[in-house]
Amino acid sequence: MKTTQRRRGARRWLLGLMVAALAALVWGAAGAQTLDELRAAVAERPNDAEAWTDLGNLLLAADDLEGAKEAYLEAIAIDYLIGDAHYGLGLAEFGRGDYAAALFAFNEVARLYPERFDGHFNRAVTLARLRRPAEAAGAFERALEEAAPEADGADRLAAWTGLGGQRVLAGDPNTDAATLLLDLEWRLPPGYAPSDLVDVAAAGFAAGLLVRGPVVEDLRALRTAAEAEGVRLAIQSAYRSEAYQAQVHEGWRAALGPERAAEVSARPGHSEHQLGTAVDLRSADGPPAWDLDDWATTAEGAWVAAHAERLGFVVAYPRGAKSLACYDYEPWHLRWVGRDVAAAFGAARTAWLAAGLAEAVPFRAWLHLQHPPTDRNAP
Ligand SMILES: [Zn+2]
Repeated sequence: MKTTQRRRGARRWLLGLMVAALAALVWGAAGAQTLDELRAAVAERPNDAEAWTDLGNLLLAADDLEGAKEAYLEAIAIDYLIGDAHYGLGLAEFGRGDYAAALFAFNEVARLYPERFDGHFNRAVTLARLRRPAEAAGAFERALEEAAPEADGADRLAAWTGLGGQRVLAGDPNTDAATLLLDLEWRLPPGYAPSDLVDVAAAGFAAGLLVRGPVVEDLRALRTAAEAEGVRLAIQSAYRSEAYQAQVHEGWRAALGPERAAEVSARPGHSEHQLGTAVDLRSADGPPAWDLDDWATTAEGAWVAAHAERLGFVVAYPRGAKSLACYDYEPWHLRWVGRDVAAAFGAARTAWLAAGLAEAVPFRAWLHLQHPPTDRNAP
């Protein structure tokens, strides 16, 4: 019984996510038309595939899955190449639990709109539902590539491997720090520095390093909760300015070469440390955590792995997720996102695991879906 409920919960969550993404797309375009108006529109223009699609979208948003399915099928019967109707049909079928039909629809979306991130993503989720994890993993990676596009060929490969992408986030790092996606592609505005940095001594750690003000309370809670269990943590690195990050990254490039450096160190502008919300932890009596084979196997690292998320911190670069997280496994690197965002991410990961989608879904993948980055320099 519990299992069934959990499964249903996961399905509801995924569907909700998909519908939210769809709603954001369609409510911009369709305005605020009512169901009556849309029904009148299809009665008036029964051969208008877009009108049927609009009706399907509204029915889907209202959770009328059967009604939505019928409307989308009308649209597709009129114009098979209408991608939005295939997309909506996929969502409706997914919600109905007919994953084979949903996969067929999402396959058509991927075929008709190969550049559409959410089409690939929903295809991946559906494949996972159908217990085809290898294909799901491929589709999921494709989705993330679509979400971080670059020109083509070598350029795109360079961007994806960290040597070329420089897309500047439109979001405000001061107010949206918890949900800004920083990776090989996306970066902070050039020269960005937070204005509310405070010493980590405010959270009871040894003085001399800085974090953003909103981080302090949860950072203190992390320290005291650990100490209550006899676990003593220290901070190795916290805020790093763009100039300092440039030095750090240059050091890695000199030591390892540009390609390997990109896997272990963010370029300036791309670091969560520059955002002021990341800390690299270590054991209070130990060396820098990256000097160990796997800090998560120490008492301190294991405690952090088990408890950080409920206190508002995510391990941004989990084990076995390099292709999706962009960087090597870093059990010591915590990104503060606040307890609400951390809980939402945790729920998403649980659902993805239940769907067999991936062993380690990194925070970056969740951000791509829930808080997609937008380009400040986009026309
Ligand atoms: Zn770090």
